[in-house]
Amino acid sequence: MAWPTSSGFGEPAALYRPQLPDRTTLPDLRGQPVTGLPGVGPKIEKALKDLGIGSLADLVSHYPSRHEDLSNVKRISDLRVGEKATVVGRVVKTKPVGRPVRGRSPGFSVQLYDGTGYIPAVVWGRQWLAGLLVPETMVLVSGEVQRRYGIQLAAKTVEVVDDPDTVQDNAHAGRFVPVYPVNKNIQARRMRTLIHRALDEAGHVLDPLPAEVLFRHNLVSLDEAIREVHFPTARPALRQALRRLVFHELFLIQTGLAARKARLERTEAGRSHRGDGSLLNPFIKGLPFGLTGAQERVMEELLADLRAEKPMRRLVQGDVGSGKTVVAVAALLSAVESGGQGALMAPTEVLAEQHYLSVSGALENLPVNVVLLTGSQGAAERRAALEQVRSGAAHVVIGTHALIQKAVEFRDLSLVVVDEQHRFGVSQRTVFKEKGAATPDTLVMTATPIPRTLSLTLYGDLEVSVIDELPPGRKPVETRMVDLSGRDEAYEAVRNELEEGRQAYVICPLVEESEALEDVRAAEELFEELAGEIFPDRRVGLLHGRMKAPEKREVMAAFRAGEIEVLVATVVVEVGVDVPNASAIVIEGAERFGLSQLHQLRGRVCRGLHPPKCYLVGDPRTDDARSRLEALCELQDGFKLSEVDLTIRGEGTLFGSRQSGMPDLKVAKLLRDIEVLVEARKEAFGLVAKDPTLKSPVHRPLRREVRELLGANVEWLFRE
Ligand code: ADP
Ligand code: MG
Repeated sequence: MAWPTSSGFGEPAALYRPQLPDRTTLPDLRGQPVTGLPGVGPKIEKALKDLGIGSLADLVSHYPSRHEDLSNVKRISDLRVGEKATVVGRVVKTKPVGRPVRGRSPGFSVQLYDGTGYIPAVVWGRQWLAGLLVPETMVLVSGEVQRRYGIQLAAKTVEVVDDPDTVQDNAHAGRFVPVYPVNKNIQARRMRTLIHRALDEAGHVLDPLPAEVLFRHNLVSLDEAIREVHFPTARPALRQALRRLVFHELFLIQTGLAARKARLERTEAGRSHRGDGSLLNPFIKGLPFGLTGAQERVMEELLADLRAEKPMRRLVQGDVGSGKTVVAVAALLSAVESGGQGALMAPTEVLAEQHYLSVSGALENLPVNVVLLTGSQGAAERRAALEQVRSGAAHVVIGTHALIQKAVEFRDLSLVVVDEQHRFGVSQRTVFKEKGAATPDTLVMTATPIPRTLSLTLYGDLEVSVIDELPPGRKPVETRMVDLSGRDEAYEAVRNELEEGRQAYVICPLVEESEALEDVRAAEELFEELAGEIFPDRRVGLLHGRMKAPEKREVMAAFRAGEIEVLVATVVVEVGVDVPNASAIVIEGAERFGLSQLHQLRGRVCRGLHPPKCYLVGDPRTDDARSRLEALCELQDGFKLSEVDLTIRGEGTLFGSRQSGMPDLKVAKLLRDIEVLVEARKEAFGLVAKDPTLKSPVHRPLRREVRELLGANVEWLFRE
């Protein structure tokens, strides 16, 4: 095979390629410890281990955090006082400056030379850095050029860009240099030497991706991509390399997901629900409203899944208030029609209770027995419920996670609906599987709008249905941010609502979970203030997480009945609580809530017919908090809000491996790389459709990669 040349720069990368390439795969390299490399003693081994690097494979895939375009870098001789600039230069020497002043640790000054001139860069604090910046180290420093005893650079960031082979004394060759985060124990230069050696050792890194996939998507080989990101030659080549690595990462994950799905479909006996409409039709007819187009479409999708032999695995995504419950009930009825039992699981008791009330109410005139099962029921009540579930007398069981405890035995569970799925872990989704002979159909619902990217990956083995339409007549919630001085005004507006006969929520500031008692105290204080000072003439109620279930039940019932006009509550009302007469919500300490939580809270008041109002009381001190609140004031659409959220928060927290069961992303970024993700997903699913266990010899390297990536817990994936 000829080396593809992607740059117009001749073959500089050939420097790193041995004359007669041996061929190795990344998994092979995983078997080779770094200690096999010359120059890796116990100290370096330890430093590498701290970075999670144990094998040659880890080493070659320890990618730079970014690349700096050196053409954007200033020559030292061109620096002007007052400007912010980035320079790259070699360390000449370092020396301490200043004495420890109160509140400020001493710093050091590092003399830099870039071939055009010298400048001292002053670094405050970060003493440990000084030891790393030994003479000759190539560093990238950004900061402001100041005049203070001569010109100096007040360094804001210092990064090591050492590239001994390519960045010579003239740092302005108009090239990219890899930037690695500075690490205390191992110098970038050393790291790169090791990576270089590891690549030498590897010879040619074999590509696990099928050639046709590479061809179709115009991807460079893995070997070329790895070398290019570590030792970039030119901008286009680097771009190609990064694209390849992103594709690579996403493709492997998607192949794993596709294989998991294929495996489940192969091995699970599902159940075909062929309901006769005897329950469903009267239910739909009896609704006080017509279904929206989106509800109808999603309902049809669900019914088709239910009819099919294979187990349903579907996610229904719909913004707050889009009417997911009706659709879920329709599915449950269809399961009951064909003789099975349905379960509806909610994340909180308040919500389970509410579902129980509304579902049993809606089914009053139908021969369907709805049973509630929660953790806080009395022993006798619980025993009776369990007995009905076991005997099959209970057709629809509604509850909290108490539903999936061992003691709960179903006679014939055939559909499970998990509401507000984002509140549950992924593992809980599967527990039901052990509870019946055939795998029950599963429907998960979420209101936390997940951007398309995430639903493709996080729920990658689920089909996704979207209710992308709100019932008619929904008014946008007028949302305002008020600071503490505007608080009275907000409550004045609430008073107007109350005078019109409507109701309001007041949400207590969020307190860390570890301080649950604090939480109660804060809630009680706010309650006192509202009941005693702000609305002494109104009926004010209190609801918080520490209350006993019957108490909570009473309060919710009173609020629903209009006996309580103002409900002071902690976030227990966040999900799903539905009281259409409530038309205003005041969120105290709004800056402490996450964006999706705020959106959920606001969703409590978009259900009635009156123009609803939301007041965000708070004092956002950080830019992030301010952006969140501003976004909320501007946007109503949960999907847009969650894209904003993702941008503000970054992606790491959303794609945590514990949440998703998938590995964290190293190079890909979901929002940025959505297009690549879609391509990779299509290819991966197509490939698995043709060869579900990847048993063809061409696919074997791929199989090995996926298996290693996803870890031992998916060993079973490729068994036939
Ligand atoms: P969510 O999707 O947030 O769970 P719900 O299922 O709780 O929303 O529905 C919100 C409210 O909208 C409920 O009061 C429900 O009765 C009402 N609703 C649902 N579908 C429609 C519809 N097609 N037309 C009018 N109101 C509807
Ligand atoms: Mg709901």
